[in-house]
Amino acid sequence: MGLKISVIGTGYLGAVHAACMAELGHDVVGVDTDVLKIEALAAGRSPIFEPGLPELLVSARASGRLRWSTDIADVADADVHFVCVGTPQKPGEYAANTDYVFGAFASLAPHMKAGSVAVGKSTVPVGTVPRVLEVLQAGVCEGVDARLIWNPEFLREGFAVKDTLTPDRFVYGVEREFAEANVARLDEVYARALAAGTPRLVTNFATAELVKVSANAFLATKISFINSMAEVCEASGGDVVALADAIGHDERIGRKFLGAGVGFGGGCLPKDIRAFMARGEELGLAESVEFLRTVDATNVRRRSRVVELVRDVLGEDVVGAPVAVLGAAFKPNSDDIRDSPALDVAERLVALGVDVRVHDPEALAVARAQRPGPGYVDTVDEALVGARVVVLLTEWQVYRDLDPADVAEQVAGRVLIDGRNALDRQRWAEAGFTVHALGRPTIP
Ligand code: NAD
Repeated sequence: MGLKISVIGTGYLGAVHAACMAELGHDVVGVDTDVLKIEALAAGRSPIFEPGLPELLVSARASGRLRWSTDIADVADADVHFVCVGTPQKPGEYAANTDYVFGAFASLAPHMKAGSVAVGKSTVPVGTVPRVLEVLQAGVCEGVDARLIWNPEFLREGFAVKDTLTPDRFVYGVEREFAEANVARLDEVYARALAAGTPRLVTNFATAELVKVSANAFLATKISFINSMAEVCEASGGDVVALADAIGHDERIGRKFLGAGVGFGGGCLPKDIRAFMARGEELGLAESVEFLRTVDATNVRRRSRVVELVRDVLGEDVVGAPVAVLGAAFKPNSDDIRDSPALDVAERLVALGVDVRVHDPEALAVARAQRPGPGYVDTVDEALVGARVVVLLTEWQVYRDLDPADVAEQVAGRVLIDGRNALDRQRWAEAGFTVHALGRPTIP
């Protein structure tokens, strides 16, 4: 018998979490303040591009185990409440905006029934959870205990369903009263993955908060490390891909996340490292988080490098030159354009006067609505025909599958800038292209 579960905040994290909880056999209600999102979900449509999610939404709807609502009162029946609201970067600052988190817990509290547990999944700065507990304590009805556990989420967009159903590990942050009962309750929710042997680490609140932000700080550092090596390679004639292969064989280093290119983006890594810097400074630990400034700066520099390469190739003819930008999403298999390196580069090219034609297999609708600056085209062909330069910025499989000989017939200039080191550069060179790649010598 499944549990009764609510999921509050049904964005990239919450929509997937709700659908996966229903898939596990729980009885789920997803609640969001965004009416359009809830309407789409209630109609069985995914508001985001996430592989596997549409199928889950359809099967959960058929099973009757998944409902959607904009009314927080509809969570009252639930035994477990997952709070999955956003913690974006504050405009003009590095710190995270935690208002949605406090707002969601404040609106949840009066609807919690006795024995139910609130579970925080949002990524929050260390030191936030005790204050969330205070909000919960102040808001619950008489006779109801404020029970809180922090359970950070590690899913990767593009693999979110798999990562939710079979994560690498669970982290439970608990403190004070009810710790054991809360852990037991969350174990019931995740029973299937736990039975399959998924490690589960129980920590205090601060550690649970820090596990998430330090994991993202490490991943961002690994990417910026290899991108720093790419800069050294560019200046010295080295090849960063060969370098990454060679150092990646050392199992202490590992090859994953050593993909040199235009750097990281999205709704997590950039804002999480910035929030970590801001929080570290508040704690008087500016030196402990100082390295993240370098990580962030290296990441942003790689975007500038691509813009420079385009400018160098076009020289005097930059204004009005048609340039194909392949990719708008911050990474493949997602339509998420938050802090997308591809769109950042596209917008900077527009500012130089370039006739930018951006294509993306899934992110065009959201890009057109939210970042209307560059020109968007519906097909790869429209981007390529007549282009003076082809710039790959999101490594979707459709772009890897392009036949360079066919592209050579479409473009006006045979110049490829591979911003992700994703394409077979020998094949492109054989088709007559000059291939610039980040951290590698230009060929031929
Ligand atoms: P998102 O912006 O896609 O979704 C947040 C949702 O919360 C929105 O739909 C918003 O309308 C809703 N919301 C805000 N206040 C609300 C309230 N009071 N009641 C109900 N709904 C409310 O964000 P996201 O990418 O899903 O991220 C959510 C959190 O999870 C963030 O803290 C993020 O850092 C973390 N996280 C995200 C990912 C990811 O890959 N996207 C992975 C791990 C952790």
